[in-house]
Amino acid sequence: MKCVLCQSLLKNQLAFRELLLGSQVKNHCCETCLNQFKLIDSSIEQRCVYCKKISKEMICEDCQYWKTNEMVLESHYVLYEYNEAMSEFMTSYKFQGNRTLAKAFSSDINQVFKRLTYDMVIPIPLSKKRLADRGFHQVEKLLEDARVDYDPILKKRRHTRKQSGKTKEERLKTIHSFYINQSDQDIIHQKTIILVDDVYTTGSTILQAKRYLLSKHAKKVITFSLAR
Ligand SMILES: [Zn+2]
Ligand SMILES: [Zn+2]
Repeated sequence: MKCVLCQSLLKNQLAFRELLLGSQVKNHCCETCLNQFKLIDSSIEQRCVYCKKISKEMICEDCQYWKTNEMVLESHYVLYEYNEAMSEFMTSYKFQGNRTLAKAFSSDINQVFKRLTYDMVIPIPLSKKRLADRGFHQVEKLLEDARVDYDPILKKRRHTRKQSGKTKEERLKTIHSFYINQSDQDIIHQKTIILVDDVYTTGSTILQAKRYLLSKHAKKVITFSLAR
């Protein structure tokens, strides 16, 4: 087994039996590469209680804004800081379409879901156009490689401009039009859902999707992203 980032051989290779049984999910990322990424640990840094952004205040500016806009705020689950290594990772994975990179953090992602209690997992959808351009859904691929089952029932109505091309103010104001087909809406009734995105920036996308799911009578919506 090789590191998907630098192609060096991984020391802790899966035993043949484990491969056969498919019983273990590993990060396909070597120690050296993994050390470039920074795990977020709220216990050692001052971070926003909700979104985990570095913040002197208990509640960061973005979350203050969401609070006044009647968003339901709860602690966001996130693994990694969006640092330079993560930015490079996302460029290669998402924008250059290097989909094998999805395996880099599979074990980390798998562990998060093992710790949480939930009924179903829903990925943040891509617009049809974005999906066609990219050729794969980057969030679904992360979940698949981490062996996390998901229900891709949340849909996005139309193509909106890329988040990265917007100012912060524009991102905060973007109205995302999410929907679930009428025939699927009963599935989420009174369910605890984990809503998953790859990157959390201001929270605009995931919080609006969360609000939509709650309006369709989900019991609880936990949010998770690989990075923030
Ligand atoms: Zn490596
Ligand atoms: Zn915050």
